[in-house]
Amino acid sequence: MEYRVLGKTGLKISSLGFGGIPIQRIDAEGTKKLMYQLKDAGVNYIDTARGYTVSEEYLGYGLEGIRDQFVIATKSMARTKEAMAADIETSLKNLRTDYIDLYQVHNPTEKDIDTVMGPGGALEALQEAKAAGKIGHIGITLHAEDLFKKAVDFDWVETIMFPYNLVETQGEKLIKVCAERNIGFIVMKPLAGGAIEDPTLALRFIMANPGVSVVIPGMAAEKELKQNIAAVEDTSPLTAEENAKILEIRNTLGTQFCRRCNYCAPCSVGIQIPALFILEGYYSRYDLQDWAIARYKGSAVKASACVGCGACEDRCPYNLPIRKMLKNVADKFGE
Ligand code: SF4
Ligand code: SF4
Repeated sequence: MEYRVLGKTGLKISSLGFGGIPIQRIDAEGTKKLMYQLKDAGVNYIDTARGYTVSEEYLGYGLEGIRDQFVIATKSMARTKEAMAADIETSLKNLRTDYIDLYQVHNPTEKDIDTVMGPGGALEALQEAKAAGKIGHIGITLHAEDLFKKAVDFDWVETIMFPYNLVETQGEKLIKVCAERNIGFIVMKPLAGGAIEDPTLALRFIMANPGVSVVIPGMAAEKELKQNIAAVEDTSPLTAEENAKILEIRNTLGTQFCRRCNYCAPCSVGIQIPALFILEGYYSRYDLQDWAIARYKGSAVKASACVGCGACEDRCPYNLPIRKMLKNVADKFGE
């Protein structure tokens, strides 16, 4: 296993990390088995989130007795000091530990960032927890490029998690900035939410970028773990054949794939367009139907509310047929 340093945290972590979303569809015993397999393979980075339902709890159970051999990262959607302090306590309890290595602000909008960093904001709770030794480091996870650009300037940000894969390279320049400023860069969505069907090629493409600290594909089975380990352990340069395949995938997916840049906003009727596409991806490609349905039900405005005005499509830099895609979302979720 190859190890890299996670930016200014100084943590030495395996270049392959464990993405904790899919364990929601197995159970605590299955998670424990996986944790021992990770340990034996030298994978020491675990990513989860308060929002991934039972993920923290399963991991807490699975890591009992071997927690010290892992770097644990979790994240919270809390934006205020009070809510973040409560979430940190919940994460510690769920993960059955007295220390979380990395705690991240989970996918804030621009407005959320003002709240997080303002008086009484979540950052105060994170900094207090860090001073108290409950968490080791503070990071942020983002989906929009303009926020990524802002986040590299925040002095409290030790790590940034952002989508990066062979069809979503919009963050490449900023990944370089992270490397220059010693900010750990964590890759999410290595398979573009499941749209890329060749995990080996996807991981080899990502790991060829020296600015990447760790990639966290979601895994719930030993077969996936073995396949991902083999992919990151092969550090030979991409072959001409692989590069040709990358081009082919880009040509196929390139024009039909939502990059979550949010340039299409605001929708005339308030649909959170990229958020609904993400849920559709979880529903169709991650085998997380129940979870996706529950989240979809909680969305204030459903895809079926689209009045077809086309304003969003005029703003989408990738010319996506958003209206058609939303119709597909509405058909899938039935509303
Ligand atoms: S076409 Fe639909 S999704 Fe796009 S802005 Fe209009 S109402 Fe919103
Ligand atoms: S629909 Fe287009 S503009 Fe909207 S988030 Fe997706 S890629 Fe960006």
